[in-house]
Amino acid sequence: MNIHEFQGKSLLRAYNVDIQEGFVAETPDQAVMVAGQLREKFGCEFFVVKAQIHAGGRGKGGGVKLAKSIEEAGLLASKMIGMQLVTPQTGPSGKKVNRVLIAQDVYYKGESEIKEFYISLLLNRKTGRYTIMYSPEGGMSIEEVAEKTPNLIFTEEITPGTGLRSFQCRNIAFNLGLSGAAHINMIKFLNGIYETFTGCDAQLLEINPVLKTSDNRILAVDCKVVLDDNALFRHPDLSEMRDLSEEDPVEVEAADNKLNFIRLDGNVGCMVNGAGLAMATMDIIKLSGGAPANFLDVGGGANAKTVEAGFRIILKDPAVKAILINIFGGIVRCDRVAIGVVEAYKTIGQIKVPVIVRLQGTNAEKAKEIIDSSGLKVSSAISFREAAEKVREVFSV
Ligand code: GDP
Ligand code: MN
Repeated sequence: MNIHEFQGKSLLRAYNVDIQEGFVAETPDQAVMVAGQLREKFGCEFFVVKAQIHAGGRGKGGGVKLAKSIEEAGLLASKMIGMQLVTPQTGPSGKKVNRVLIAQDVYYKGESEIKEFYISLLLNRKTGRYTIMYSPEGGMSIEEVAEKTPNLIFTEEITPGTGLRSFQCRNIAFNLGLSGAAHINMIKFLNGIYETFTGCDAQLLEINPVLKTSDNRILAVDCKVVLDDNALFRHPDLSEMRDLSEEDPVEVEAADNKLNFIRLDGNVGCMVNGAGLAMATMDIIKLSGGAPANFLDVGGGANAKTVEAGFRIILKDPAVKAILINIFGGIVRCDRVAIGVVEAYKTIGQIKVPVIVRLQGTNAEKAKEIIDSSGLKVSSAISFREAAEKVREVFSV
């Protein structure tokens, strides 16, 4: 699960990590008000107005702007809120900005003394350890650094059992060229972000840039957090940070119906029970000359309702030219699923694409009878090969 910059920063703040402070605003009036509060609290002269969307590269797309007065913060907010922001990470259609973060300007005084770093924490699944990836080349995209100057990307592996060790922190601060107060502050910063990362069960915590200010403070200026969905049950407060408006509506609907759904770019919609069978089904579609339009695992307890929800979700994709339903009746009885298919077909109506149904397992023969005698444009097939043949027929006309 992805969260916004302002939410990520609130987590950092809760773990005592120094951040570029700010408040979120949903209207220009609120922007003016919170800019006033920021000035009162932190005495900042300038402000930055930052679009809150689930994508990076906002600076390049005009989603991060400097305001030199409280009024200008309001003006910039009025332009940004409601706009469709296009960045290198959003795709050409961009993302709608629903709110902005009004933050203190931390790039004050003496540009020569300011430094931007890149620091991220992630899970290395190969080694079963955490990795801190960091670079003295902050601010720009890490992909760019990796391409141009890969020697400027460093890593430090952390064993979860022992945690982040002090020699590792010193190593990082040293490689980033820090000494004195900045060195000490960096060590505190690193410990704080490690606590945040592990405490929230995050998969990724990326801070780009981490800023060394002209007075040697170390601050998180940006913050990208990806939380582990499988651990969210331990964090009801974090689950509430989900912003559904940032997610693919079809995937949200699938999750509401407890369906495992992943959109793909082919032309055959599939509805299968069990992830293994779903993978095999995608293979057979490919071998039959089609390409899967989605991965959809309806789970072990498929019933008429889940079948209907699956149908509806698949049909939302205009690229779908055929649907293959492949259900193995182990616990579920095939005749029940067949009734579900026929019912869904009637309820939804106007399903123009051919539907091929393979029901195998308990009461499979009975299910075939139900499908065949339904009078609908549903063709039944019992073996996997027959199902594949029927998919092939669709694509050979
Ligand atoms: P991103 O482009 O989506 O990664 O957004 P960031 O939060 O990383 O901000 C992009 C850029 O805006 C940073 O790399 C800085 O150069 C600039 N920026 C961010 N905060 C400030 C600030 O307080 N003052 C100034 N002058 N520039 C800032
Ligand atoms: Mn950034």
